[in-house]
Amino acid sequence: MSVYSADSTRSSGSVVAAHYNARPELGRERRNQSDIIGLRKYNNWVKNVLIGGHSRPGDCVLDLGCGKGGDLLKWNNAGISYYLGLDIAEVSVQQARERFRDLRNARFKAEFHAIDCFGTSIRPVVPPQFSADIVSIQFCMHYAFGTRETACQMLENATAYLRPGGHIIATIPNANWLVKKVRSVPDLTFGNNIYTVKFKSKDQFTGFGDAYSFALQDAIDDCPEYLIHLPTLEDLGRQYNLQLVKARPFHEFYRDYLDNPELVRLLYRMHVLGPNGESMSAEEWEAVGLYMAVVFRKYD
Ligand code: SAM
Repeated sequence: MSVYSADSTRSSGSVVAAHYNARPELGRERRNQSDIIGLRKYNNWVKNVLIGGHSRPGDCVLDLGCGKGGDLLKWNNAGISYYLGLDIAEVSVQQARERFRDLRNARFKAEFHAIDCFGTSIRPVVPPQFSADIVSIQFCMHYAFGTRETACQMLENATAYLRPGGHIIATIPNANWLVKKVRSVPDLTFGNNIYTVKFKSKDQFTGFGDAYSFALQDAIDDCPEYLIHLPTLEDLGRQYNLQLVKARPFHEFYRDYLDNPELVRLLYRMHVLGPNGESMSAEEWEAVGLYMAVVFRKYD
């Protein structure tokens, strides 16, 4: 499915669900041999830092677009007490359930449901009295930006159960980097051996429905995604009592933590950096630029 056939006036949920439902679970061995292993490790390190920096032991977590449960171990290490994982792709949700079941020494309770978190209210699957200390939206918020309505539904779902003072941690496409990049090439496509991005236009961006097609080796084939214009997200967030407290492109993210020995050690422990300082390929480092980390705090 190419971006050019995606109808941005409705939620592209069914297209995206079909895409993720069809993706096989690679397994640890295949993942470790992949050409994007360094990129995956860096992305995981960023998520670890966000989780560690904004959660506290005993927290209740709402994960929108939880996928196959790739962050369950991180949440276990953070010492949370409860995790509600929601995703539109049923196959992924089932894999997340299995991953939780197989987690050794899980110290929290978890529940998983297949539901569209951007096109519908999540109320039918939220347990009574549920209150989240932290909401996580990793590498999926961009699917909500097909229309203003779906972006608002995503924020409604993200904030309705978040306690005042709680945080939303998210990793989103770096729209500035993507637009700069497409404007620097003669046509509408750019990328390298591991990723390709195709735009429809270089300058007609409206804040919603700004579609591009994204392919990443061993991860995503030509899936329709939408730019997130950060000032638009920040403005919408204010309507949902959210204050943007951090926005950092992935290329710069690590610099904020170089004086934190524990997080630098984690860079080595997670094999983002090798024992001799070696790290990911130049292609992977270029692809790191695709994303940025954002954190919102709900007003007290
Ligand atoms: N958050 C996980 C992670 O970081 O490993 C998964 C990220 S994966 C790149 C994007 C996920 O967003 C997919 O699992 C997809 O099914 C989910 N997704 C996309 N649109 C969604 C929607 N409308 N509601 C819920 N989940 C959605």
